[in-house]
Amino acid sequence: MLGWLGALPRRSHFAAMLRDDGVLMVHQQDPAPQWPVGPAFELLLGLHALAGYQARRWSRRRLWTSLDRPLDRAAVQVGGRRGRFGVALGDRVRPIPAGAPPMLGLEGAIAAALGRMAPVAPGGGPPILLARELAARARRDGPRSDQDRSVGAVLVDPFGRPVLGATNQAREHRLLHAEVVVLLSALRSGGPLAPGHRLFTSLQPCRLCAALAVEVGVQEVVYEEPERGRFGQGTALALAGLERQATAAERAGLDG
Ligand SMILES: [Zn+2]
Repeated sequence: MLGWLGALPRRSHFAAMLRDDGVLMVHQQDPAPQWPVGPAFELLLGLHALAGYQARRWSRRRLWTSLDRPLDRAAVQVGGRRGRFGVALGDRVRPIPAGAPPMLGLEGAIAAALGRMAPVAPGGGPPILLARELAARARRDGPRSDQDRSVGAVLVDPFGRPVLGATNQAREHRLLHAEVVVLLSALRSGGPLAPGHRLFTSLQPCRLCAALAVEVGVQEVVYEEPERGRFGQGTALALAGLERQATAAERAGLDG
């Protein structure tokens, strides 16, 4: 596997996965300061944009990356389910031999995935109620599978003002959770988050969203409903003591 990756420049990072149909998917990422998403996470963003739910089948394959970071591991666990995570160091790769499987670049699919992120202006009112309203709006927008829950997330600036809101896009893309959409959209449009930003969500963040929130320096996450599934247990936010359930007063709209 590693021998097929030799054509990539050493200074960039890469991730690769061999699909069931024999196509080698390779993503090369140039290092970008302040962008927390590594090549494995980006590869999965592109894979899910290309293949939707079929991506789950391919995601069981081993994924190779030259950059091993906790956020990307969480993306593999959440987006790949049974995906295994292999780390390959760029210095060790060899030239691509004749007869290697056809290679598919993912730049376009990754751009499409990022373009699908649709943050909204959150409006006024207590942020936990705004997050709940966004989740309800997503439910109204169309049928979803039984496994997918509608989630709303609202980013609040250090002055307590709601600045961005988003819903998850689970119907189209397994990794575009509401928190991923709102946090990555904020980074793409405004650069690094200033200290003191908080995130309000209708559902306790999963392992991936928790890792992202910690990575970008969110001060606190306040959620309405606890996540009882396995991806909600022992997250980076829980371990760091940076999340709590909304109080009864907050949920009643008495306290923002
Ligand atoms: Zn999540």
